[in-house]
Amino acid sequence: MPPRLTIVSPCYNEEATLPHSANELSAFLERMISLGKVTPESRILFVNDGSQDQTWPIIKELHSTNILIDGLSLSGNVGHQSAIMAGMLAAREYSDAVVTIDADLQDDLDAVEEMLDRLAEGYDIVYGVKESRMADPFLKRTTALTFYRLQRSMGIKAIFNHADFRLLSRQALDALAQYPERNLYLRGLIPQLGFRSTTVKDIIRERTAGSSKYTLRKMLLLAVDGITSFTTRPISWIIGMGLAFLLISVCMAVYVVVSYVEHLSVPGWASLMLSLWFIGSILLLSMGVIGQYIGKIYIEIKQRPRYHIAQFLKHNDDDR
Ligand code: UDP
Ligand code: MG
Repeated sequence: MPPRLTIVSPCYNEEATLPHSANELSAFLERMISLGKVTPESRILFVNDGSQDQTWPIIKELHSTNILIDGLSLSGNVGHQSAIMAGMLAAREYSDAVVTIDADLQDDLDAVEEMLDRLAEGYDIVYGVKESRMADPFLKRTTALTFYRLQRSMGIKAIFNHADFRLLSRQALDALAQYPERNLYLRGLIPQLGFRSTTVKDIIRERTAGSSKYTLRKMLLLAVDGITSFTTRPISWIIGMGLAFLLISVCMAVYVVVSYVEHLSVPGWASLMLSLWFIGSILLLSMGVIGQYIGKIYIEIKQRPRYHIAQFLKHNDDDR
């Protein structure tokens, strides 16, 4: 049985790209249906993320003229990540698999066919990984690379050069649905789910129309979520800094005492310097300790599930 697929596409002020993207997406889906790779009930679900332009009227129009197109409109702009989540959760009930792809179709639609092949082979998560980021502006490319490295150094499992172009099986979706957190960073969260996963090549194109909806501010907020949602390591760095300062203050103490004995300093300087460094290090240390507790509260308050069951082999009571 081929899977019933839903292609979820978040749209924020995409009136310029939407008609063209909708054509491409539905031609693609028709092809997949005729090849028997997905069931005829498969759909495209456009999620309107509180757009201020004609995005929603266009989606409504597409829905009324094209059987393959559904629409979901959010009450306001909640951001890329939450919009994707809304679409996936809405589609979860009736889909065997979900593919998420940006409405500007910068990602390689043909890679979805490969994703479906991987799904048929038994993979639950298939990531689209950018071959080359040459289509991205220089600044975006370098900041992204630095960010991936930073994440790695903090022990966050994230897929290099993967944005939010991916396929999730129903089982992976059900697992994802158990994460109630508000600060969503799907690129970090999904690798944590476990399950069999693999990657396919994604050849990035330049935006055909409209401009990037990711302002610098939105990008920075996403980056902060990408780190603070997964690790409290920055808090440990405060402790490390406190310890380093304490060490420096010991060295300073030696220097200050020597200067005092040798009468190299003005009166009052020694005690001032010593207390400055000492209090500084104690403050940092105690902040770090308090931070550790806050970090624990932060992790606990998310109420993330502890595990996901991949398979359950169980005999019925009356099987014996
Ligand atoms: N998007 C969204 N809500 C937002 C910002 C962006 O749903 O607040 C959508 C946007 O319509 C697009 C996708 O997220 O489908 C990626 O945005 P964009 O292409 O502007 O980002 P870039 O490719 O430049 O990183
Ligand atoms: Mg884009």
